[in-house]
Amino acid sequence: MKQKDVLIKISDLKKSFPGGTEALKGVSFDVYRGELLVIVGASGAGKSTLLRCINGLSAISSGSIVVDGIEVNGLKGKKLRQLRTDVGMIFQSFNIVNRKRVIDNALHGRLAYYGLRGVLGLYSFEDKKKAFEILARLDLEKQVAKRADQLSGGQKQRVAIARAIMQEPKVLLADEPVASLDPGASSKVLGYLHKICQEEDITAIVSLHQIDYARNYADRIIGLTEGVVTFEGGPEDLDDEAIQELYFNEEEEE
Ligand code: ADP
Repeated sequence: MKQKDVLIKISDLKKSFPGGTEALKGVSFDVYRGELLVIVGASGAGKSTLLRCINGLSAISSGSIVVDGIEVNGLKGKKLRQLRTDVGMIFQSFNIVNRKRVIDNALHGRLAYYGLRGVLGLYSFEDKKKAFEILARLDLEKQVAKRADQLSGGQKQRVAIARAIMQEPKVLLADEPVASLDPGASSKVLGYLHKICQEEDITAIVSLHQIDYARNYADRIIGLTEGVVTFEGGPEDLDDEAIQELYFNEEEEE
């Protein structure tokens, strides 16, 4: 087996919000290059805060996050923009531009590489070809010329995946990407996400609150309970006892 290569190292990460909520209470784990890591945990466990800290959207209180050798904490200006290019993001609410065509939404992933030319829509032939090819791999070739608001929720999320892949990130963070989709669309979106990240050799960190999806699509799972890592292992290790610990911890205390 190939030696595991650490792409992201999180050490003793703490994050408190004004008002005193400690969302992350000393979180440490590694993310290996090429894996799909799922973060599971109940609502309020700190999953979203963790992802926002990794791409520098949220400042950490203490500890460290190193992405491909670069400390995220304190990055500013050009270096922070580079991090945001290296770290793609997918949200529960899709965050695509509804009045634009599907292909244009996918091309938005190239914006950081173009500056003003991108704003004017002056993308290269190669990038347009690549956007079409990626959309086709996500089974959206019939939708490329449609406005995004004509798509179903699952299709919209696949457009968001295409846009993120066009960005050529080292890491893709997906924050509850299927929370607003029905079970059929959810499985499809996670299946496509897993497949395309493998094909493009992109490391992915996906937060989910549904254990079944985590088991089906994760290479490895981290469990968070009230800001603390309470599980780390493969999908096969996430047994009933581990789930009990993750979700019903407080009920076991006397
Ligand atoms: P999850 O994504 O697992 O549902 P979050 O990361 O959203 O959890 O939230 C973790 C904890 O931090 C919760 O107690 C939540 O209320 C709190 N929290 C999240 N964002 C903020 C914020 N901007 N201001 C204050 N508290 C916050």
